[in-house]
Amino acid sequence: MSLYFDEEHNMFRQMVRQFVEKEIEPHVEEWEEQRIWPARTLLKQMGDLGLLGLSYPEKYGGAGLDYWYNLILFEELGRCSCGGVPMGIGVHTDMATPALAQFGSEELKQRFLVPAIAGQMCAAIAVSEPDAGSDVAAIRTRAEPDGDMYVINGSKMWITNGTQADFIVLLARTAAGQGYRGMSLILVPTNTPGFSVSRKLEKLGMHSSDTAILSFDNMRVPKAYRIGEEGTGFQLQMQQFQKERLIGSVMGLAGAERALELTVKYTRERSTFGKPLIENQWVHFKLAELLSEIEALRQLNYHCTRMMVAGQDATKEVSMAKLKVGRLVRQVADTCVQFHGGMGYVEEYPIARYFRDSRLLSIGAGADEIMLGIIAKYAGLYPTRG
Ligand SMILES: Cc1cc2nc3c(=O)[nH]c(=O)nc-3n(C[C@H](O)[C@H](O)[C@H](O)COP(=O)(O)OP(=O)(O)OC[C@H]3O[C@@H](n4cnc5c(N)ncnc54)[C@H](O)[C@@H]3O)c2cc1C
Repeated sequence: MSLYFDEEHNMFRQMVRQFVEKEIEPHVEEWEEQRIWPARTLLKQMGDLGLLGLSYPEKYGGAGLDYWYNLILFEELGRCSCGGVPMGIGVHTDMATPALAQFGSEELKQRFLVPAIAGQMCAAIAVSEPDAGSDVAAIRTRAEPDGDMYVINGSKMWITNGTQADFIVLLARTAAGQGYRGMSLILVPTNTPGFSVSRKLEKLGMHSSDTAILSFDNMRVPKAYRIGEEGTGFQLQMQQFQKERLIGSVMGLAGAERALELTVKYTRERSTFGKPLIENQWVHFKLAELLSEIEALRQLNYHCTRMMVAGQDATKEVSMAKLKVGRLVRQVADTCVQFHGGMGYVEEYPIARYFRDSRLLSIGAGADEIMLGIIAKYAGLYPTRG
């Protein structure tokens, strides 16, 4: 038993590890090549094992556990030999559904959360737009009231699981001219007329994850599909982002740890100038330094988890974790490629994919600069105007 995890946590970890080894790893090459993961099949398998609603109430098919189990799930998924599949799963469990679980009406939860937890429906979260990524308050997608319906028009960009989601949690403008106070979170089933996938994007990395531009053309959705009160969408999404960012940080560190393990192995086996690479002081010192930074940030992730479990506002700490892990994985990826030499630059070695996939963390879920802005605000460092 470790300081943080008991026997049950360890058994759970073991179960997830076996699932990853048996059901994900053998297919990674194929899914990367096909540029998509089979969300419905894999989510169904995970739903059957009870992996999709760990901290959601048992009433909806969840396990009613605390958030440490989500952390373990993503520490293990983060060790996959690709980033795309864990990201697709993370969007479903911890990025698109937290607000639904916390603020959705009973009807909405029965209709969408229950099948999402069972792995019978796939979820996506649609905040970003072609002209509004970092600046969430600038979104233009409109949901105009018409009786007891909303009529939705607009476009969303970069939507993970976007080509295969059964429902999308959409941030839209429900009142004009009210800035961030005029937005609502609305659950949008993708089989509604007026919804279309405009384009699937070809990306630098995360190849097994489908990312799409979505279009909404006079799409009619019941007002009852709104999550929470009208006009609270921005705040609900900011809250929901905390889990997205923490899970991103957890997966980021797990991937970095695995990349370092691969690099230790490679530098032990590869010799130059008559001795293994790792025997050069520069190499083992650099690896030791990166391991130390991983350990320090792991403690920050654990601290954030502890705060969340205690019901505290972890916005500042989660932003710090996301920022620093995003920066660290870039260093780790660069170093690992460097120590692999030419072999770090070819597809036969897993490090090349890691180099591509890991670059996303400093951009997605709020870029580093956005994290700095949040931290500065919470720390009272913002310049005063006047
Ligand atoms: C693979 C992938 C998957 C994604 N999945 C989703 C998803 O499922 N759902 C979703 O809603 N979104 C998703 N996103 C979108 C992602 O959250 C945005 O890309 C991100 O928030 C940045 O927005 P942007 O791309 O519009 O960059 P911009 O807002 O144009 O910013 C560009 C750069 O400018 C800098 N910058 C921006 N603002 C400031 C500032 N105030 N001060 C200093 N520098 C600044 C930053 O370096 C930033 O990276 C995904 C993106 C990618 C690439």
